Amino acid sequence: MILLEIKNATVIGAGIMGHGIAEVLALSGLNVVVNDVSQDFLDRARQNVQSSLARMKEGGKINESVMNDTLARLSFSTDIKNSVAKADIIVEAVPEVLDIKKSVIKEVESSCSPDAIIASNTSNFRITELQEGSVRPKRIVGMHFFNPPVVLKLVEVVKGEKTDNQTFEAVYDLSRKIGKTPIRVVKDSPGFVVNRINAPESLFFCLLLDRKIDSPASIDIFARSQGLPMGPYELMDYVGIDTVVHSLEYYAKELSPEYGKCMIFRQMMEQNKLGRKTGHGFYTWESGKAQIPSGEPSSKVELMDVLAIELNEAVKLIEEGVASPEDIETGVRLGMNRPFGPISVAQGLTNAEIKKKLEDLSARFESTVFAPARSIAEGKLKEAISGKTGAGQEEKPAAPKTEVHDEPVFMVKKDKVAIVYLNNGRLNLLNAAVLDGLEKTLHEIRDDREVNVVVVTGKGTVFSAGAELSQFFSGGIDFMQASRHGQSIFRLLSEMNKITIAEIKGYALGGGFELSLACDIRVSSPDAKIGFPELQRGLVPGWGGTQRLAKLVGASRASYLILTAERITGKEAFDMGIVTRTFGADTIDDDVLKFAHDLSRKVAPGAAFLAKLLVNKGSETSLDDGLTMEAISMGLVYGTEDLKEGISSFLQKREPEFKGR
Ligand code: NAD
Repeated sequence: MILLEIKNATVIGAGIMGHGIAEVLALSGLNVVVNDVSQDFLDRARQNVQSSLARMKEGGKINESVMNDTLARLSFSTDIKNSVAKADIIVEAVPEVLDIKKSVIKEVESSCSPDAIIASNTSNFRITELQEGSVRPKRIVGMHFFNPPVVLKLVEVVKGEKTDNQTFEAVYDLSRKIGKTPIRVVKDSPGFVVNRINAPESLFFCLLLDRKIDSPASIDIFARSQGLPMGPYELMDYVGIDTVVHSLEYYAKELSPEYGKCMIFRQMMEQNKLGRKTGHGFYTWESGKAQIPSGEPSSKVELMDVLAIELNEAVKLIEEGVASPEDIETGVRLGMNRPFGPISVAQGLTNAEIKKKLEDLSARFESTVFAPARSIAEGKLKEAISGKTGAGQEEKPAAPKTEVHDEPVFMVKKDKVAIVYLNNGRLNLLNAAVLDGLEKTLHEIRDDREVNVVVVTGKGTVFSAGAELSQFFSGGIDFMQASRHGQSIFRLLSEMNKITIAEIKGYALGGGFELSLACDIRVSSPDAKIGFPELQRGLVPGWGGTQRLAKLVGASRASYLILTAERITGKEAFDMGIVTRTFGADTIDDDVLKFAHDLSRKVAPGAAFLAKLLVNKGSETSLDDGLTMEAISMGLVYGTEDLKEGISSFLQKREPEFKGR
C-alpha cells in the first residue's frame, strides 16, 4: 500500500483520544468512520468534534466551509463490521486494557481488507504483544497520538517485532500528511519514548505523596514557576488517574516491580477520583480547568530531580536502541509540550552532576529505578547522547539510527538524493576546513551518476551563520584569495550537474546566505534569519553574494538587503522570491528530504541539468543566443531514453523511471 491510497480511516473507541484522532484525520481530508460500543458515546464524540471545530472557526483557524466539509467526512456507527469494511487504516483507541485491545484487533481483522493497516494508539503496550494471535501481524503498528490530538504535534510511530517496513513508513508518512511531527520508535518498548521517560517521573511524584513530603498543589505551583506548562499532578488528572495506574501496573510487570510501590494513585482510582473525566482527582475540575488552590511553591523538590530522572530514562532508551537521541529530544519536547528535551538538558550538565543526583534520589527513595543508567554510571553520558552508546552496546540489536559524524562536512545518500551537511558547531560557521570538506564532497557528488538531487543544509538546527572571520584576516592578498577560493567552491555548486536545494533553517547569514544563493532552489523555515551582516563588520559579501542576489531579485532589492545589513525572516525571503517554499521549523528536515526525493524521481536528470544551464547562462547572454541554446538543448534531449520514458509513462498514466540516459 502506498500513502496516496490511505483515504478511508476508521477510529475505534470514541473517547478522549478517539474523537480527537477522528477530528484530525477528517480535517486532513480523510473519510472517517467513528465506532464505539454505544450510540451515547458516539453522540458525545460527535458533539465534542463539533464544539472543537466551532472553536477553531471562531479563532479564525478554519473557515465555515472547512468546518462543514470536515463534519461531512465523519460518520458514526456501532456496527464494527461495517465500520471497518472500507478502511485503509483502522486506528484503535479503546481503553488501555490488553484483552480489550486484542479482542478488538481480532474482530477488526475478520472484517477489514487484508491490506488495511491496524494502528494502535496504545500508550504503553508493546506493539509486539498486540501482534500475538494476529493473522496479519505485519500490518499492525503503533500510532501514538498525544492529548489533545488536535493540538499536540507529536505522533510516536512504533514498530512491533513483526511490523513490516512498508506499514511503518506508511504510518510515518500519514502522520506527516495530517500535520503531525512523527518520531520513529524503531524498537518496541513499554511506553515507547515519552511515556517511558514519564514512567519514573510518575513513580517519583507518587512516592513524594506516599511519603507525605509535600502537597500536590505546592509541587504543581513549583513546577509551573520553573516554566513547565502544567504541574505533574494537574497533568495526571488531565490524562486520567486510571490511565496512570494502568501504566504503572504494566511497568511493574515489564520494567521493574518497583513501579508497583506506588499506593496513592490506586486508592484514588478505587474512589473513582479519576481527574478531569470524573470531575475530581487531585483537584476539582470545573469547565475543563483544575481548581488549584493558591499557595507557596514547594521547597522540597528541585527541577534538577525531574530533569535527571528524565535524562536517565532517555539514556536507557538510547542504550536499548529504542529511538535516536534526536527523536527522543523531539518526542519529549512536543509530547510534553516543553521548550527543551533531555538531550538539550544534558548538554549543559556534567556526567558527574547527573550521576550524583541520581545516586542521591535512588538512596532517598530506596529505588533502583532512579539509579544511574549504565552509560552515566560509566561516565559515558556524552557518548550516549551523541549516539555513541556506552560499553557493551555492540551486543545490542537494532541500534539507533543516528550515525556519528565528526567531519566538518559530511554527506548522506538516500536513494537518488545526496544530503550535504555542514557540521561545524551549533552555528555551522564556514572556515577553511569546512570549505575543503565542501569542495571534496561536491566533487564526489558531481561524479556520482546515481544522485539526481543535492540538498545542502546544516547538521542540527542552523544552516550556517556565516564565515569564521578570524580564519581569513591574514593580509589583503590572502583575503582576496580566500574570497576567490570560496567563490570557486560555490561555483561548483551553482554549476553542479544535478538539481541543488539549499535547506535554510535557523540562520543563513553572510557566507551562509551566499552558499544558499549558489543553489538552484532555496527552501526555508518561516522563522529562519537571513541576511548580509558584512557591511556592519566593514566587509563586503565576498563569495558571490552581491552578484547572485542581484541576479535573483534585482539590483534594488539586493542593494537594500546588502546596504542595510537587515536580517529578514524566511517568510519575508519567500515574499521577496529569494526562497521559493517554506516548511515548518519542526519538520523541515523530513519535509525537504521528501520534496527532494519526489523531485529526484519526477524529472529527467539530464533534461534538468540542461534546463538549469539554460536559465543560469541564459540570463548572461542575449535573447537570441539564449533561444539558440534552448533549441540546441531540444536537439540534445531528442533520442534520449528518458524522453521516450517520459512520454510513454505519461500516456500509460504511471510514474516515470528515468535512467539519466
Ligand atoms: P476513553 O476511556 O476516554 O475512551 C475509550 C473508548 O473506547 C470509550 O468511548 C469506550 O466506550 C470505547 N470502547 C471500549 N470498548 C470498545 C470496543 N470493544 N469497541 C469500540 N469501542 C470501545 O479512553 P482514552 O483516554 O481515549 O484512551 C484510549 C486509548 O488511547 C488508550 O489506549 C490510552 O492509553 C490511549 N491514550 C490516552 C491518552 C490520554 O491522555 N487519555 C493519550 C494518548 C493515548
